[in-house]
Amino acid sequence: MTRRTLIAGNWKMNTRRDSAAALAKGVVDGLSDSTDVEVVLCPPSVYLAAVEECVVGTHVALGGQNLCAEGDGAFTGEVNAAMLTDIGCGYVILGHSERRQLFGETDADVSKKLHAALAGNLIPIVCVGETQQQRETGETEQVVREQVKGSLAGLDEARAAGIVIAYEPVWAIGTGLTATPEQAEAVHAFIRKLLAEDFGEDVAGQIRLQYGGSVKPANAKELLGQENIDGALVGGASLKAEDFLQIIAAA
Ligand code: PEP
Repeated sequence: MTRRTLIAGNWKMNTRRDSAAALAKGVVDGLSDSTDVEVVLCPPSVYLAAVEECVVGTHVALGGQNLCAEGDGAFTGEVNAAMLTDIGCGYVILGHSERRQLFGETDADVSKKLHAALAGNLIPIVCVGETQQQRETGETEQVVREQVKGSLAGLDEARAAGIVIAYEPVWAIGTGLTATPEQAEAVHAFIRKLLAEDFGEDVAGQIRLQYGGSVKPANAKELLGQENIDGALVGGASLKAEDFLQIIAAA
């Protein structure tokens, strides 16, 4: 089963309009025409339009960092799937550990968002991953199992193949610590086994699994070389076009 490599940059709450446009242009201009890697930029929502102008008609796709599962209406401060699609997004990150930890998002919330994303023709990138303490107490598989099953609740086989799951150990996000390729591969293989339980081997074999957690030019090649690692969700290193391009090249 060949799965197209997907490298996504999560800019989080960084950049301003000018630096967002400059970063997007840097990625677009530096990307080889012959790359078969799928590349997605996820800027802050207020800069989606500015980045869209830079990536429209190129190989680079646009993604949101979150969405509200509701339709239009009285939801002050929120942005829904229809709005993300309207502005040119093809992807959306869901259930990032920062959303789970800082904004109290639960697996049930993520599942609602997943269905809203799919209904809005967005490819969801669903994030899961254990904390340092959970890893140390041997709970990694249990936590990841709960997050995968809970976040994907109600998903049918027909739609499952098109989703993306990002395994992001919380202890490796923004810390400079990276899971070893062996640690990451072990959890990715476990996630694929979980997916096979619910959707069958064939569909599970089509679902792309990204690794996230301090991916950098120096470690990207080895991580992306693992059998079940089909891409990367990149935070800090996606804020420098040169570093992000090197990660894409490593893929
Ligand atoms: C992330 O936030 O998704 C992430 C992986 O961040 P970093 O690459 O900075 O660890």
